[in-house]
Amino acid sequence: MIQRRYVFPGVLEMNYQSGRRMGVNIYLIDGGSEYALIDVGFLDELPDVLELIRQMDFSLSACKLIIATHADVDHTQGLTRAREVLRCEVVAHPKSVPAIEEGDEILTYARIDAQGIRIPIPRCKVDRTIDEGDRIQIGDRQLEVWSTPGHTAGQLAMRMGNLLFSGDNIFRDGCVGVIDAHHGSSLVDYITSLERIRDSDVEYLLPSHGPIFRKENRLLDSTISRLRAYSHMSDFGTCAVDWPLMDEWEEDLASGEFRF
Ligand SMILES: [Zn+2]
Repeated sequence: MIQRRYVFPGVLEMNYQSGRRMGVNIYLIDGGSEYALIDVGFLDELPDVLELIRQMDFSLSACKLIIATHADVDHTQGLTRAREVLRCEVVAHPKSVPAIEEGDEILTYARIDAQGIRIPIPRCKVDRTIDEGDRIQIGDRQLEVWSTPGHTAGQLAMRMGNLLFSGDNIFRDGCVGVIDAHHGSSLVDYITSLERIRDSDVEYLLPSHGPIFRKENRLLDSTISRLRAYSHMSDFGTCAVDWPLMDEWEEDLASGEFRF
């Protein structure tokens, strides 16, 4: 048996618990009589995660559900196996369901041919969908579901009191989850989701990657302005809203003057 190292009351996280970097953050919401997991990570780390849960003296059968924050392979590869072992529901946003159930290699980043990346992505049944405003009761704890699209259309965040399980929305260094047209990223939605997080009275962000951190509006502002700039730049291709340089050039060309 090992001692539980709660990061907040009712909240355990496997990297913090094990004292080593295991991969994606896996949160365990301890509601007393039952618990829930937020994401499960890669398949090869799953036996260690399950062992850790056992060693913390949780019964595997007390797991009420697994919440998939979104469909990406690094968050979901272990889902099918975890669902079998824990015999619990898997829940996700409706827009994550096709990718999870079909094991979509492109939408989940399991396959990036240009970089020789190919990760097996087992299909997993999603038992129930959850969406904006839903409340999930886990014993004596309650999560409020936020739909926060941007990184991907089905990205979820979950609020519990002054904590926000913030998924891939923003990390401690101000980076965001990958922006990629093939992945369904939307810069416009991303900005809206980040503004919502900024304007909320949440105090701590518990992301899906890297350290937990206090919500600082300065950090969010700086990330939002970066994404605003990207929405008028070519850097993320078809994710941009427009590219003013081309409009300016068009005017130059029409004027017949060379302005260099
Ligand atoms: Zn991620």
